[in-house]
Amino acid sequence: MSDCIFCKIIAGEIPSYKVYEDDLVYAFLDISQTTPGHTLLVPKKHVADLFEYDTQLASDVFTRLPKIARAVRDSNPAIKGLNVINNNGAVAYQSVFHSHIHLIPRYTKNDDFSIHFVDNSGDYNEVKYTAIQESIVAHLGD
Ligand code: 5GP
Ligand code: ZN
Repeated sequence: MSDCIFCKIIAGEIPSYKVYEDDLVYAFLDISQTTPGHTLLVPKKHVADLFEYDTQLASDVFTRLPKIARAVRDSNPAIKGLNVINNNGAVAYQSVFHSHIHLIPRYTKNDDFSIHFVDNSGDYNEVKYTAIQESIVAHLGD
């Protein structure tokens, strides 16, 4: 896609700190190192988000994820864990609309990445949960 910044990075038109490349995927340092080693894994095929993946593209990307995750972890003995984040849609904080997986090394619980889940388990309601479950199942398709 001609006006896509990640397509330009993949094509070498914009420089990047590449850490992995093969025929199908490209991985490089995020320009904003939320924590040192913050890496983006992208399919070379331009798709906007996860909703556009078919099973082949999912296989292409996600089968490579553990190898890159291990390399990021092993790059620095201070890395104690790693968050994998994939934002889909502006409401979910996606800002570049070429699908990408964030690999964010974790050094301590108080490093520069945080994630906040509100504990709504007290709102458990069997009828409500069953309706949500049934609606998701009805939309699985093939
Ligand atoms: P999103 O918010 O869409 O999930 O993540 C997009 C990421 O792309 C951000 O973390 C941002 O720092 C990174 N990014 C944006 N432009 C560039 C760029 O030109 N080069 C690199 N390496 N990363 C970029
Ligand atoms: Zn693109």
